[in-house]
Order: sequence, then structure tokens, then C-alpha cells
Amino acid sequence: MSATLPVQKNDYIDVVFEDLTHDGAGVAKVDGYPLFIPNGLPGEKAKVKVIKVNKGYGIGRLVELYEKSPYRVDIPSTDANKYGGCQLEHISYEGQLKFKENQVRQVLTRIGKLEDIKVHSILGMKNPWHYRNKAQVPVGEKDGRLIAGFFKPRSHEIVDTNESLIQLPEINEAVQAVKEICNELRIPAYDEETHKGVVRHIMARYGKHTGELMVVIITRTVDIPNKSKLVEEIVARLPKVKSIVHNINSKRTNVILGEKTSVLWGNEVIYDYIGDVKFAISALSFYQVNPVQTKVLYDKALEYAGLNGEESVIDAYCGIGTISLFLAQKAKKVFGVEVVPEAIEDAKRNAELNGITNAEFAAGEAEVVIPKWYKEGNSADVLVVDPPRKGCDEALLKTIIEMKPKKVVYVSCNPATLARDLRILEDGGYKTLEVQPVDMFPHTTHVECVSQLVLE
Ligand code: SAH
Repeated sequence: MSATLPVQKNDYIDVVFEDLTHDGAGVAKVDGYPLFIPNGLPGEKAKVKVIKVNKGYGIGRLVELYEKSPYRVDIPSTDANKYGGCQLEHISYEGQLKFKENQVRQVLTRIGKLEDIKVHSILGMKNPWHYRNKAQVPVGEKDGRLIAGFFKPRSHEIVDTNESLIQLPEINEAVQAVKEICNELRIPAYDEETHKGVVRHIMARYGKHTGELMVVIITRTVDIPNKSKLVEEIVARLPKVKSIVHNINSKRTNVILGEKTSVLWGNEVIYDYIGDVKFAISALSFYQVNPVQTKVLYDKALEYAGLNGEESVIDAYCGIGTISLFLAQKAKKVFGVEVVPEAIEDAKRNAELNGITNAEFAAGEAEVVIPKWYKEGNSADVLVVDPPRKGCDEALLKTIIEMKPKKVVYVSCNPATLARDLRILEDGGYKTLEVQPVDMFPHTTHVECVSQLVLE
């Protein structure tokens, strides 16, 4: 098979990069055959080694750069740089924004066949470093010590580091402190291979606008050796901590959180503000990780909803009610739907916390609950969706098309499924007026978008 391809495994060839893949690798073509090469940037000339050939594309490794892109930044070779999950950190922030905006445009045209769609310039951050308010750090053991940090790519080997260029300093400090305390108290790390040991992950969450810290210790075992000393030391060394939570995950699995959660010390939740709205956040609930850009995103969603106080609004995939409570301030009534029951409890508590009485929340799958509401004769003037990466379920899209809300606001963390779903909604009678990309995750390949659709 490979005899007919223009390149062979182990070939060294000179290429010019033309494009980037959605996960940030350089794309070069040899007689039309695409090679994907991590770290290559459009416009750059380089020598590459072919390391794998498939029928439709090959993979290569960068050997020597002859000509550099003006968007390339030289980064030092630290663990945080090599393993910290920042796939675009070798690209200047300006270059990253350009890449993400292009990607949104290309995907909407290619997958969504939305030719004349208005895509605005992406909204980036002024300071795109140390923005994440949450970390979930894998724990392991090396030379008899508990270590924690990042996984090496495509492996289960943990690199022991406290550095992260994108996490808030409070998060890095919290992880480091817990790691040190576990070592001092000889609390064993979990061992994936033997399924023995105790601590699997350390999770930290920080309310940037309240200064409240939550620490979650995820263990295989029901008991934690030296538990009361552990709690005492965390409280002593991390003065911002307001909640220490224990989560038990006794299964052999890659899933981080298990089913049993209990509070070891302090509150069950921490609080944070987005704009003027206060939120209680529990260990298991989804909460946006970039507090600065979340405000930008929600303001845009609210603007696209275009409310005048008379509307009935549905917020599907509502999490802890964040967007719902923003909307409730401008709508007659908001109904939020979310699959995680704990998040719905948080959402109800959040409405109360802010004295918001025109928001109701239901636990369940959006694609089940909303069709049921519709069958019972309930509908909405505006419908907001903010699904996970896999996009909206077809049953939900079908119900939207039948229910005919005047406006749909689609918040998406995956341009590919957004494009697919916008196509379905367009075929069902909606017109996508505009799409606003927002950079919620600088230095990573992820991009968020808010879209406004109206009934034609
Ligand atoms: N709008 C919220 C949450 C967005 S994340 C915010 O901005 O904070 C997507 C949410 O969808 C998560 O809370 C997840 O638990 C929830 N979810 C996933 N699948 C779902 C489904 N089928 N029905 C309802 N909610 C779902």
C-alpha cells in the first residue's frame, strides 16, 4: 500500500507548512498527501522525518526549522511547557487567536455548509496567563514518594511538577501544599497498575472573586490514613480554604470522580461571583474554568437572547444555573435543565442566594425533559443551549424545530458539533445571524462560540 504513497516511513524531506490541524499540528502536503507534524506553523520551511504513513495521511516529526513563522515564540523547555497541556504555547497569543478564529470559520463552512455566515473577531484575554480556577491533578508514586503533576502525552507516567502557566497561583499553591502534607504524613498514592494505595487525584477549585478555596481529595479507599491530621494541616497551610471534600472512587477507571462524596471540613460549597450574581459551587458541579472570559461569554449570550422582560426562556444544559440566573434578571421566567442532580441542587440554591424567584430548575436529560414539556403544552420564546463537546442530542434539536422559539442562543465548546447542529436547525427553519468566538482557554486548542439564531 505504502509503495504508492509519495513518502515512506523514515524518509527525511523538506516541506513548507500550509495550515494547522484542529489540534494545532502543522500540515504539509507532498503531492497532495497530507503530513501532520506537531510544532510546525503555517509558512515555515522545515526538514521533517516521516514516522508513520496511513492511507489518507502521514505523521512526521520536526527535525530542523529553516524559516520561522513571525507567530512563533521560543519557549523554555520546562516540564510545565512540555507536559502542561498547552498545545499552542509555541504560537504568540495574537497567532493563537488568529488560528482559532480561522478554525471556527473553516469548520462552519466545511461541516455546517454555512457559506455567508457572519463570524466576528474572536474575543481574547488581555492577560492570557494563570487564568484557570480549577485543577484535577493525577497522583502517583516514584522512589517511595507521592508525586503529582501532569501525565506525559499518550502515557500513564506522571511528571512531578507544581508549575502550570495557565492555572491561578492559588490553585498551584493548593496542589503543592496537599502533596507535601501527604508526603509528610506518609499517606500513600494510588497505584493504577496494582489498584492499591490511597490518593488518586488532588482537585482544587478557587473562587477568584471571593478568594474561597476548595480542596477535594479523591481516594480509592473509604478511609484516609491520618485523616484528621491531613485536614488540620491543610487548614493551617492554606488560609483561603473554605471547604475540604473527600470523594471516593474505588473503581478501576480513568474517570476521576467517584460516587461517594463527603465534607471533611468547612462548607459543602465555595462561592464565586460572575458579574453581580453569586454562585455556590459544589465539588461535583460544572463551573466554567476561566472566570474573566466567562463574564464575556455570558454577556454575549444575554445580548443575543435580546430579552425585554416578557419572555419565557429555557436554558438547556444549565449546570449550576449560571446562564439561567443571568437571563432571569431580564426575562419573565427561566426554566433550566441539567442532567447532574447535584448541579440542579446548586442551581436552586443559587437562585435563592440571589433572591431570584422567576427561575425553575429540573434534573434530567435535556433531550427527554424538553420534549416532555413541549408535549404538555409548554413552550419558550427563547431557548439557550450550552451542551458538552458532543453537541445537542438530535431529539432536542427536533423538539426545538417543532417548538419554534423565536430565538435560539447556542453556546458551544466544540465548533465541529456546533456546525453540525446549526445545519440541522437551519434546515428546520432557523437562520444563524452571527457567531462570536470567545477565547476561554488560551494556549490550548479549545475555542468557545456563542451563536444567535432566529426563526426565518
Ligand atoms: N451552562 C453551564 C454548563 C455548561 S457545561 C455553564 O456555563 O456553567 C454542559 C453541562 O451539560 C454540564 O453541566 C453537564 O453536566 C450537562 N449535561 C451533559 N449532558 C446533558 C444532557 N443530556 N442533558 C442535560 N444536561 C447535560
